[in-house]
Amino acid sequence: SIRTVYNFNAGPSALPLPVLEKAQQELVNFRGTGMSIMELSHRSKAYDEVHNDAIARLRKLFSIPENYEVLFLQGGASLQFSMIPMNFLKPTQKAGYLMTGVWAEKAFDEAKLFGEPYEIASTKERNHNTIPNIKDLQYNEDDAYVHLTSNNTIYGTQWKEFPNTGNVPLVADMSSDIMSKPIDVSKFGLIYAGAQKNLGPSGVTVVIIRKDLLEEANSEIPTMLKYNTHAKSNSLYHTPPTFGIYMLGEVLRWIEELGGLEVVAKQNETKAKYIYDVIDGSNGFYIGHAEPASRSYMNITFRLADEELEKKFLAEAQEAGFVGLNGHRSVGGCRASAYNSVPVEACIALSEFMTQFQENNR
Ligand code: PMP
Repeated sequence: SIRTVYNFNAGPSALPLPVLEKAQQELVNFRGTGMSIMELSHRSKAYDEVHNDAIARLRKLFSIPENYEVLFLQGGASLQFSMIPMNFLKPTQKAGYLMTGVWAEKAFDEAKLFGEPYEIASTKERNHNTIPNIKDLQYNEDDAYVHLTSNNTIYGTQWKEFPNTGNVPLVADMSSDIMSKPIDVSKFGLIYAGAQKNLGPSGVTVVIIRKDLLEEANSEIPTMLKYNTHAKSNSLYHTPPTFGIYMLGEVLRWIEELGGLEVVAKQNETKAKYIYDVIDGSNGFYIGHAEPASRSYMNITFRLADEELEKKFLAEAQEAGFVGLNGHRSVGGCRASAYNSVPVEACIALSEFMTQFQENNR
């Protein structure tokens, strides 16, 4: 293969080879325009097609109901940490946060600037190795919203079912598992995700927002930071990240051709299982971080007996062509990120490498 490594990066991360090859082929003269997609006006007919095609594919693949807007913004998921409370939280109002990791904490801290966020539940005491039980969650009926992180990229935990928050809008950071499986979008008031893990290159942030919330949003905020500005202009209020949106559309086309989210979800489970099976069958040589019921199918986190052995593992893995297996700089250990575009073969190869490494180092 032209691809010389197995890419397990946490984000930006692997993209499908057929998508990269198509982009390469179309790069210099995009669909008869005589220029690249990056050189086209964002007001041109050729770009308009790309833009609307990406939105339409997202809507169809993710079964997004009619009463939701799909927006392409910039600033990453991190800007959403601020935009959400800026738009929806009033100074004396509360919003409930489910504290399942570092990204949830960052979102919580931003909300303090605008209102009164509080913790509904926290898994901090267990080093975020688990997901709160949805039956135990207490929040107030007049909260502005409830916020959760659907997949905790750093700790390798994932919500398997979502709480039903009734009239309180449920807001979800789905940066690291968006469109890795079908979900019921109608349970959410707002979903957001940076594209750079499951959907495309960095630079595009996808926001899916229920239309009635747009009307209720705070109005005394900067124009660019109002969801409504972007909703009213089909995400063309200003120059959007055109190349990223094109790539996102092509990744979605690739997912469609695979058979859609049901197929992708099964594949993701199978991929993760190859690696979890090695961990579980290793007699403690590999120590999984997440407790089994909360395990992520996207980010598989584990440790070895001691730091020295871990270093050796990471060095030999690198040597053997496995890239990106070091854990997040804040927690250490090892992490294999197996997003939609990571091929099954890469996970099989990693599972075999792990088994062999154990053999050689017992
Ligand atoms: N939320 C989650 C769950 C993430 O994994 C990340 C990035 N790793 C972020 C938010 C921050 O995203 P961005 O870099 O797009 O601002």
